[in-house]
Amino acid sequence: MLTSGMISPQKCCRFIAIAGVMVSAGTPMIRAQSDKTPGQAAPAAPPSILDRLHAMIGGGKSAWSDEQLRTMERLRDKAMESDYAYEELRHLTDNIGPRLSGSPQAQKAVDWVADEMRKLGAEVTLEKAKVPHWVRGVETAELTAWPGQAEGTKQKIVLTALGGSVGTPAEGITAEVVTVDNWKELRSLPAGAVKGKILLFNHPFDKELAATGHGLDAYGGSVVYRGAGPIAGANAGAVAVLVRSAGGGDYRSPHTGATAYAPGVTKIAAAAVTAEDAELLSTLSHEGKVTMHLTLTPQTLPDADSYNVIADWKGTAHPEQVVVVSGHLDSWDLGTGAIDDGAGVTVSMAALELMKELGIRPKRTVRMIAWMSEEEGSEGAAQYMKDHTTDLANHAGAIESDLGADHPTGIYYAGKPELGQKLRPVAQVLEKIGAGSLVNAPETGEDISGLTDKGVPSFAPIQDSRFYFNYHHTAADTFDKIDKKQLNENAAIMTVLAYALADEP
Ligand SMILES: [Zn+2]
Repeated sequence: MLTSGMISPQKCCRFIAIAGVMVSAGTPMIRAQSDKTPGQAAPAAPPSILDRLHAMIGGGKSAWSDEQLRTMERLRDKAMESDYAYEELRHLTDNIGPRLSGSPQAQKAVDWVADEMRKLGAEVTLEKAKVPHWVRGVETAELTAWPGQAEGTKQKIVLTALGGSVGTPAEGITAEVVTVDNWKELRSLPAGAVKGKILLFNHPFDKELAATGHGLDAYGGSVVYRGAGPIAGANAGAVAVLVRSAGGGDYRSPHTGATAYAPGVTKIAAAAVTAEDAELLSTLSHEGKVTMHLTLTPQTLPDADSYNVIADWKGTAHPEQVVVVSGHLDSWDLGTGAIDDGAGVTVSMAALELMKELGIRPKRTVRMIAWMSEEEGSEGAAQYMKDHTTDLANHAGAIESDLGADHPTGIYYAGKPELGQKLRPVAQVLEKIGAGSLVNAPETGEDISGLTDKGVPSFAPIQDSRFYFNYHHTAADTFDKIDKKQLNENAAIMTVLAYALADEP
């Protein structure tokens, strides 16, 4: 049984407990509950029928004046006709490219975002953070023996190292493959069954669940094996661990992501095989003995200096009070990090650009943050919480977009149920672009989870997650996956909500 005590403490922030095992999040787990769910902590007195009617027709008391609501409509419309987020994302992904934490591209991206924000007239601070510096190496595998093998042949297996993985010796290892579908099957094996072998967890991503719009839940069901597989494998005596890719794409494209080791447990090399190769290995290993030659040569270099980029669009009345609008700037290295999470960064940059375009300065400061190293441990976000302990009370709200750039249907909010009631006028502004839902959720974004925990109201766009995990963390996370209209809908949510929070009385 895996417990939280087995996860290295510095990485704990990225691991959440599901079904008794620790899970690498990679993206936030949002267990959504409708703001109408009776199980929520209810307000003292239920709203009267009249109150509810008022809310439905947009009447009743609004926290925002008619003029402020008109400003939100102008920001929404401007966002929808803008090229800014789309062209900035094109540059970030096509020109700068993948942005693994500690890499030259990550540093280039930091400097570029800072420059772009300075051009708008924002006050820019680079906030230093130490980040992991893991580099991918050779990653190859082939079957050297299997039932029915033609003499003298090998069979290629497509895989990619998991982030943070240690390597095999440079010449690789050759070992028998043992396949299990889940933890329970691993526990049911006789003692020593995995010793000296390569252990594969063939747990499929639940495509049907994702197809119904629950992509994050489908991811959560798979990613536990990526996060905790190497620890379980090492405990069982395996020499390496393979996991089935934790995504829905089945074009034989492997899906990377962070894994973890535990103090006192041997670190063994870990990789994700494609869904197709996982099926193949499962079939063959149940027919008879399968042997694989596996070579993984990633390296973990000393931690590197990097930065969160902070750009303040200064408020007029309360500049010390801030509303955070954010995404994470680092990405995995197989693709170019367009949906994860270049899109989140550029829709956040757009919030400031659109306010500049329309000459809008809200009462409070709108703070764009491009977070560093979310994928490898959220070190940037942790540094922010350390550096801002004394001004946390000045955080009026925090928004993060980190679930792609597909059509958003509204806003997730973490906070009291009354917050949902209060936001109805904002939701009504967003109805025109099909984004008028308000859904209460315990978590909104990995990088803003520290702020959420400290009681800062936090928010995220409710993005369509049906297709996100087909590309996320794969070589296919590239700019062409971005639909400009849908990206702009996300920019509209970020901008309208940031303005609403920053300008409310
Ligand atoms: Zn992400």
